[in-house]
Amino acid sequence: MNDVADFYGIEHLLDEAGRDAVRRTREFMAAEVEPVINRYWTREEFPHELAGGIARLGIAGVAYEGYGCPGGGPLLDGMLAMELARSDPSMSTFLGVHSGLAMGSVYLCGSEEQKQRWLPEMARMEKIGAFGLTEPDVGSGVAGGLGSTARREGDWWVLDGQKKWIGNATFADYIIIWARDVTAGSDGQVKGFVVEKGTPGLSTTKIGDKIALRVVQNAYVTLDGVRVPESSRLQRADSFRQTAAVLRLTRAGVAWQAVGCAMGAYEHALAYAKEREQFGRPIAGFQLVQDLLVRMLGNITASATMCARLAQLQAAGEARDEHSALAKAFCTVRMRETVGYARELLGGNGILLEHQVGRFVADAEAIYSYEGTREINTLVVGRAITGLSAFV
Ligand SMILES: Cc1cc2nc3c(=O)[nH]c(=O)nc-3n(C[C@H](O)[C@H](O)[C@H](O)COP(=O)(O)OP(=O)(O)OC[C@H]3O[C@@H](n4cnc5c(N)ncnc54)[C@H](O)[C@@H]3O)c2cc1C
Repeated sequence: MNDVADFYGIEHLLDEAGRDAVRRTREFMAAEVEPVINRYWTREEFPHELAGGIARLGIAGVAYEGYGCPGGGPLLDGMLAMELARSDPSMSTFLGVHSGLAMGSVYLCGSEEQKQRWLPEMARMEKIGAFGLTEPDVGSGVAGGLGSTARREGDWWVLDGQKKWIGNATFADYIIIWARDVTAGSDGQVKGFVVEKGTPGLSTTKIGDKIALRVVQNAYVTLDGVRVPESSRLQRADSFRQTAAVLRLTRAGVAWQAVGCAMGAYEHALAYAKEREQFGRPIAGFQLVQDLLVRMLGNITASATMCARLAQLQAAGEARDEHSALAKAFCTVRMRETVGYARELLGGNGILLEHQVGRFVADAEAIYSYEGTREINTLVVGRAITGLSAFV
C-alpha cells in the first residue's frame, strides 16, 4: 500500500470513478496548492486563481443527486474533504462551506424550482455560496437564540441583523441567511433565505488577524433592511429542524476534514523523521519518535474508519444527529492531539511555516470549534444516549 496515511486502505471502499476523483484531487492539490499556500496563509488571502482548478475537478455537489451535481455519495464526498484538508485545511473549508453548507441548504430546504435554479451553477462553481447562521452574540445557542429577523411584506421579506464568521462571504454570490420570522401573527420560526451579492443593505467586513484557517475569508455580514423576494425564501425550511438537517450533513464532512488535517501533519512528520539526523542516525530510528508516529497513525486510522462507517449510515439514510456529532467530536479531539505530536516530532522546526506542520497545528484550532464545539457535539450525543438534555 503506497498511501502512507490511509493505513487500512479506506480509499479501496470507493469504486473506480471515486478513486479517480480522489487521485485527481490529490494531484491538483500537490501540484498547484501545496507549493504556494503558505504565502496566501501568511497574507490572509484567498487564492481565487486556484478556485478555477477546483471547479474543473468537478467535486462540488458530490453529496447530491441530480440538479447538475456530480453525485457519488457520502463516502466520496467525505474522502474528498479529507483529501483537500490533507494538503490544506483552508481549501477544504472553502469547498465545505460552498458545497456542504450553502448547496446543502438549497438541496435539503429548497423547492424543486429553487434547486433547478441554483444548484447547477453552484455545482459548476460559476456561483459561490456562503452560509450565515452564527451571530456576534449567539454561536452554540443558535437553535433558540437567533437575533436576526425576517419580516414579511407582501411578496417580499425584509431582513435585519448581523452574522459573524461567515466563510466565503466577502466574495460569495449567494449567502444563505437564517433569520427568525417576526411577521405579526407568524409562527416565529427560523427561516432560510438566499441573498444575492449586491442586494442593497447587505454588506460584509472581513475578519482579520485570525490564527487559524487564514486563507478562508470569514466575515461579518450586516443586513440592514435587506429586501428579498418570497421566491428566494427556501420553501422547505420552516423551522430550525431543517437548519439542523444541513448541519447533520456537514458535521460529518468536518469529521473527515479533521482526519485530513491530521493526515497532512502526520505525513510531513514521517518524511521529516526519515530525513532528520541526530546522534548520527535518522530520528525515525529512535523508539520514542516511532511511538509518536504510531500514536498519530492510530488516531488517524480510528478516525477514518469511524467516518467511513458514518458514510455508510448516511448512504443508507440511517445517520442521526448523534452519529455525526460523535464523529465530529471524536475526530477533532484526535486531530488536535495528532497535529501536536507532529509538531513535537519536528522540534523547533515544528513552529516554522516552511516545515508545513505549523499550518496544520494552527488550522486544527478552528476545525475543533466550528460546526459545533466539542462540548456541544458531546451534549448532542449525551442527550441521545441518556434521554436527558444537558444543554441548559
Ligand atoms: C474559522 C471559523 C469559521 C466559521 N464559519 C462559519 C460559517 O461559515 N457560518 C456560520 O454560520 N458560522 C461559522 N462559524 C461559527 C462557528 O460555528 C461557531 O464559532 C461555533 O458554533 C461556536 O460558537 P461560538 O464561537 O460563538 O462559541 P460560544 O457559543 O460562545 O461558546 C464558547 C464556549 O462555551 C462552550 N459552551 C457553550 N454552550 C455550552 C453548553 N451548553 N455547555 C457546555 N459548554 C458550552 C463552547 O463549547 C465553547 O467552548 C465559524 C467559526 C470559525 C472559528
